[in-house]
Amino acid sequence: MAGAAAHENKMCAMTCCPCNLDVEKVKSLSNDPKFICESCGRVANQAENLCRPEAL
Ligand SMILES: [Zn+2]
Repeated sequence: MAGAAAHENKMCAMTCCPCNLDVEKVKSLSNDPKFICESCGRVANQAENLCRPEAL
């Protein structure tokens, strides 16, 4: 499905259900968090990995 990749880059999408969870990938994207998601409270190094990023 074309265009599906963008949402899969979001921490929220990556961690929403166990079948999607790639812990190593999530760890590498959140080992030095600079942003928190206003929607689900997850943290990430880059704003682009969150659906509603807010600077920490
Ligand atoms: Zn979120």
